[in-house]
Formats: sequence, structure tokens, C-alpha cells
Amino acid sequence: MLLLFVITALLVTPITGDSCESYNHPQYGKTGRCIKTSNCPGGLYISNLCESKPNDIKCCFASSTSTANCPSIVTRSGWGARAAKSKTAMTTPVPYVVIHHTTGGTCTTKSACITKMKGFQNYHMDSNGWADIGYSFLVGEDGNIYEGRGWTYVGAHTYGYNSKSIGISVIGDYTSRKPNAAAINAVKALIKCGVSKGHIKSSYILRGHRDLDSTACPGNSFYNEIKKWNNYRSLVRSDMGPSFNVPEDYLVMQDM
Ligand SMILES: [Zn+2]
Repeated sequence: MLLLFVITALLVTPITGDSCESYNHPQYGKTGRCIKTSNCPGGLYISNLCESKPNDIKCCFASSTSTANCPSIVTRSGWGARAAKSKTAMTTPVPYVVIHHTTGGTCTTKSACITKMKGFQNYHMDSNGWADIGYSFLVGEDGNIYEGRGWTYVGAHTYGYNSKSIGISVIGDYTSRKPNAAAINAVKALIKCGVSKGHIKSSYILRGHRDLDSTACPGNSFYNEIKKWNNYRSLVRSDMGPSFNVPEDYLVMQDM
């Protein structure tokens, strides 16, 4: 009789929470929420963790306020950046992502890429007289992403677009070959991250630097690669606005 009572009690005990709410995702490191998949930014959901919910409710691990869906980024302090001389806040989400290459040699280890990062920053600040390293982010062929001006400050990389774009530069020269898979995957993941965090519009337009200025950047091979990516839009001259007439001396300083 007692056994029957215990079994009955177990059966009628309400479910107090789904596994989703206490699950720590190994990659995203954050407990999820049981919501419709169409409301899950980035689409990072697991289907079997919302036991008490209908089938169309799944465990979502992304939200606009979390860092879910983002690769790890080597912060400024992580690569030993100098402090910026000044900063200008940028209105986000931005409508454009602009792809660059740095020209010059590549780097395939973190320590080599950090040496490059310091060199770019010194050149941009001391020789060009800029406030800081020009790009929003840089990516090495070591597969790492290095923070430049970051998501929320105006950069110095694409004349006329600095206050409305994230500028991502891959370290190296991609005229005759494209960046390796590690670098390309990192750039794609970074863009996706920016969208999921609300820094880049989900309807963003992707362009190469040469689409917006008289420059070969980001190199023929890399340019042909990004033309295949989601959100790339071929050049529409009317998009460029009145700022397209760029002084030649400025262009010389655009890329190292
Ligand atoms: Zn460029």
C-alpha cells in the first residue's frame, strides 16, 4: 500500500523545470531557454532538453544579450595593445561589414600574430598619426581573432564607411592565394557573432575594401572568395555616396 502511494506521488508530482534550464552547453557555456526555434537567434538549439514542452519548443542557446554563438577573441590586453589616443563611439548595429587584408607577411602562430598586431598599431598611430590601430578586428592564419577598435568604436579603414561598418582585416597578402581555412572560418564566425550580439544588422551588406575605394584590398584571391559569401552585394555606385572622391594621399595610408 505504501509503495503504491509513493508511485502515485511520483506520477502526479509536477515537472518543475526542463533539463534545458540547468544544462551548461560545453561550447556556449550558458543555460538555455525553451522557446520556438524561430525565435532562437543564430539557430543554436538542442531538441531533446525541453521535456515538458510541445515538439516545436526547443532549448535555445543564443540570445541577443549573450555572448553565445561567438568565437573567442584575443582582447587588446591579450595582445598587449597600447591605449588609444582617442575613441569615438559608433552607432550600432552597423549596416556594413568591410573585408581587408593587411598586405605583407602572414602569421601562423599566436606569438607571430601578436608581433604583427603591435607593428600595425605602431604604424597606424606613429606613422599615420591615427588614434589607434585602424581595423575593428584582425584575423591571423593562426585562426585567432584579434581585437582592434572592437564592435563599438569608429575605425579607420574604409573612407566614408568608418562610422557605419565593422572592418575586418586578415593578416597577410591575398593577391594570389586566399587565406587558409582557419582564417576564413574565423572571419565568418566573427561576423555571425556580431549579428547575434546586435552589433551588426542581420540584413548587413558585405563588401571588399576595393568595392568602396580605389584600392586592390583585400587582394584578388580573397576578393573572389568573399564574393561567394552570404550578404555580399556587388557594387552599386549610388550606394557610395558623395564621399567616393577620395584624396589619393589618404588611399596610400589605407593599408600597410
Ligand atoms: Zn583595406
